[in-house]
Amino acid sequence: MIGVTLESVSKRFAGAGDTAAVDDVDISIDAGEFFTLLGPSGCGKTTTLRMIAGFYFPTSGRIRFGGEDVTRKPPNKRDTGMVFQNYALFPHLSVAQNVGYGLKIRKVRGADARSRIAEALDQVHLAGYGDRRIDQLSGGQQQRVALARALVIRPRTLLLDEPLSNLDAKLREETRTEIRRIQRDAGLTSIYVTHDQAEAMAMSDRIAVMESGRVRQIGTPQEIYHRPATTFVARFIGRSNVLSLPVLAADAISVEVRLADDTSRTVAAPREHGLTESATALISIRPEHIGLCGPDEPEALAGRITDLEFTGMATNLTVDVSGQELMVATVEVPDGLAVGDRIGLRLPAARMWVVHP
Ligand code: ADP
Ligand code: MG
Repeated sequence: MIGVTLESVSKRFAGAGDTAAVDDVDISIDAGEFFTLLGPSGCGKTTTLRMIAGFYFPTSGRIRFGGEDVTRKPPNKRDTGMVFQNYALFPHLSVAQNVGYGLKIRKVRGADARSRIAEALDQVHLAGYGDRRIDQLSGGQQQRVALARALVIRPRTLLLDEPLSNLDAKLREETRTEIRRIQRDAGLTSIYVTHDQAEAMAMSDRIAVMESGRVRQIGTPQEIYHRPATTFVARFIGRSNVLSLPVLAADAISVEVRLADDTSRTVAAPREHGLTESATALISIRPEHIGLCGPDEPEALAGRITDLEFTGMATNLTVDVSGQELMVATVEVPDGLAVGDRIGLRLPAARMWVVHP
């Protein structure tokens, strides 16, 4: 097992002007960790992964596998197993031939190759499928062949680029559990790329949230969910309300903000929040952390329901509070609640958090 480190890594593509596809990225991935690059389409996830695999070289910066500098090494000198979104399988070859492809290149042959192919197919629960043709397999099975092909070379790191995006929702959830099991059993340092925040949250030890080529935050799913660094992260991971509120007082780790005329809250803030009295703070609060009460109760924000949607697990409300729309998710809905009703919202200070713009 080895860790992977990116130090100030940037990538500029020729002819793409001044904008960097990946811009000064620092990431340190622990040995055996399941680490995810998460962000919207075009934010630089694939480019980052391809630099780790060796398909692209960085314009500047360094990449290390353990103590070894691999920045300028070709892919076949890095021992990485790669799984692509479209699987990139050879349709005219058998399952065993596909899985064995990397062994052939590495000149592993005969009984040795056969036993390693069988072992890899066993790992992905496809024992006995070696002689099938690729076009005789379901999408989920093809995905597992792609995984077996990456594992058969006994890689030092496993790199996966949106491997589940061609599967339907149910299979996607089953397969993500499966990938995690295989990764854990093999103790493989794994770097996973996705734009799906639920997938990232469910699978990862840690996540790097990317936007416009930059890493905005690195942390465990819990840290990123409860302490988002920026407005973008707060809104991209789950759903979040971000309120602009006047600052009444501030110290190193908290900020007192005015919530309404006679109501204030003291809210935890990240260090270097840079806020002072009379500035405007951005405060995030999750829809499920807002409570409901009567509109005229003290300390409550009064508003009017403009939308109400029942999802089974919860009811999602949109509430207009003096022109600002807040999302509220609640499991317990008062009887007869309807669009147009006045309602009170409780925003507990402990659930509020200062974010950067
Ligand atoms: P993601 O995987 O997060 O969707 P990519 O890493 O594929 O994002 O792309 C990041 C940015 O780099 C995008 O603006 C994309 O258009 C650009 N880009 C990616 N590959 C190339 C390339 N080979 N040549 C020029 N621009 C590229
Ligand atoms: Mg991509």
